[in-house]
Amino acid sequence: MSGSLDEMYRDIILDHYRSPRGHEPLPMADFSTGGHNPSCGDELKLAVKIEDDMVKDIYIDCKGCAISTASGSMLAEVLKGKSIAEAKKIAAIVRGMLKGEDVEIPEDLGDIDALEGVKKFPVRIKCALLAWVTFMEGMENYENGSGEATTTSVE
Ligand code: ZN
Repeated sequence: MSGSLDEMYRDIILDHYRSPRGHEPLPMADFSTGGHNPSCGDELKLAVKIEDDMVKDIYIDCKGCAISTASGSMLAEVLKGKSIAEAKKIAAIVRGMLKGEDVEIPEDLGDIDALEGVKKFPVRIKCALLAWVTFMEGMENYENGSGEATTTSVE
């Protein structure tokens, strides 16, 4: 990978970190959940508004490093407006990508490409994973009908 590509990725991550998407609170959220990455100290809150089987809106607030914040911002940007099925599929793809699994990454995932660069820094992978696994667990819980807030911890 060339140096300029790395720089581009870094710029994308910093842009999301400085002006994270999904920062409007969602008072009427259908579920809210939290995530925690003990190895870095990242903490995030996630709230999702569901309407007609669509992810109508996402609120995400991350107190953590640049990677975890940027990753959460990308999640809000990409999953908003997707159907539940699509959102779950995308989250699973991103998780697989970060874990180094052989997944096919669709071309319309926007800035998420930039997260792939994180794989070179194994200690930061959990930071990037946090928002996605928190979303997946929260969604699963919502679909199972248990209205309880969960806290996801990346291991
Ligand atoms: Zn972190």
